[in-house]
Amino acid sequence: RGKRAFIAGVADDNGYGWAIAKALAASGAEILVGTWVPALNIFETSLRRGKFDESRKLPDGSLMEIVKVYPLDAVYDSPEDVPEDVKTNKRYAGSSNWTVKEAAELVKKEYGSIDILVHSLANGPEVTKPLLETSRSGYLAAISASSYSFVSLLKHFLPIMNPGGASISLTYIASERTIPGYGGGMSSAKAALESDTKVLAFEAGRKGKIRVNTISAGPLGSRAAKAIGFIEKMIEYSYVNAPLQKELLADEVGNTAAFLVSPLASAITGSTVYVDNGLNTMGLAV
Ligand code: NAD
Repeated sequence: RGKRAFIAGVADDNGYGWAIAKALAASGAEILVGTWVPALNIFETSLRRGKFDESRKLPDGSLMEIVKVYPLDAVYDSPEDVPEDVKTNKRYAGSSNWTVKEAAELVKKEYGSIDILVHSLANGPEVTKPLLETSRSGYLAAISASSYSFVSLLKHFLPIMNPGGASISLTYIASERTIPGYGGGMSSAKAALESDTKVLAFEAGRKGKIRVNTISAGPLGSRAAKAIGFIEKMIEYSYVNAPLQKELLADEVGNTAAFLVSPLASAITGSTVYVDNGLNTMGLAV
C-alpha cells in the first residue's frame, strides 16, 4: 500500500506546504491537506477551476491529486475552545469539524490511518513588531498558532499514525540567531518548535514508533513571508552570503521532507535539518 499524508498549512501553490505535498505525491503518497478555514473557499475554488494545474505537474507529467481538503484552524483543539465570535463569523460558520481534534476524527473515519503528518503553518499577528514592543497576547498568539499547533496536531493524529510513520514541521534560523524584523514572538515560537521537536521525537518514538523532525528552511517568497515585509531582502541576503549562490527552490525543501519521512531516514529523529543553501553555517557576511 502507498503511504498517506496529512499536510496542514496549504492554502495556495506558493508555500512550502504545497511543495512538500508535491514531493510526497511524486513519491507515491496519497495527499490529504488541512487548509486554514478563512482561506478554504478561495483555495478550493482555485483548485476546482484549474488555477493550480500548471503547478500540480509532477516530474512524470501527471498532476498531483489532492484527494481531500479538510478545513482546519490549528489554534483550536476542540469545539469547546472556540470563542463565540469565531463560531458565528461567516467565514467559519460555513464549515464544520475544523478544530484539530475533529479534523483528526474525521480523517480517521474517512481514511482510517495516516503515515505522514506535515505541519507547515505559522501565524504571528505582531510579527512586524520588535520583541520589545510585542504585547503578551501577540506573543502568546504566535506561540499558539506556530508551536502549540504542532503539539496539538501530533497529539491528536498520533493514535491514527501507522508505526514507522513520521512527521515534519518547518522552522527558521531566527530561533537561534537574531534576525531583526522577525518579531512578534515568532523567533520565540520557532525556538519552542525546535525544542519540542526533540521532546516529541522521544515521546512519539516511544509511544508510536513515529519520527519527528523539523526543517530549518531558507527564505521563500510565500504568502506568509510577504506579510512579514522584508522577504525580498532576506532572499537577496541569502543569495549574496550563502555558500551556494543560487535561488532556494520550495521543491528543495519538499524533496528533503520526502526524504525525512521515507525509510531512507529511518534513524533520523529529533533533528533540525537545514535546507538553506548553507547560510546557517556562515559567521561573517562577505
Ligand atoms: P504559507 O503562507 O504557504 O503557509 C502558511 C500557512 O499557514 C497558510 O496556508 C495559512 O493559511 C496557514 N495558517 C495560518 N494560521 C493557521 C491556523 N491557525 N490554522 C491552520 N492553518 C493556518 O507560507 P510558508 O512560508 O510556506 O510557511 C510554511 C511554514 O514554513 C511556516 O511554519 C513558516 O514559518 C515556515 N518557514 C517559512 C520560511 C519562508 O521564508 N517562507 C522560512 C522558514 C520557515
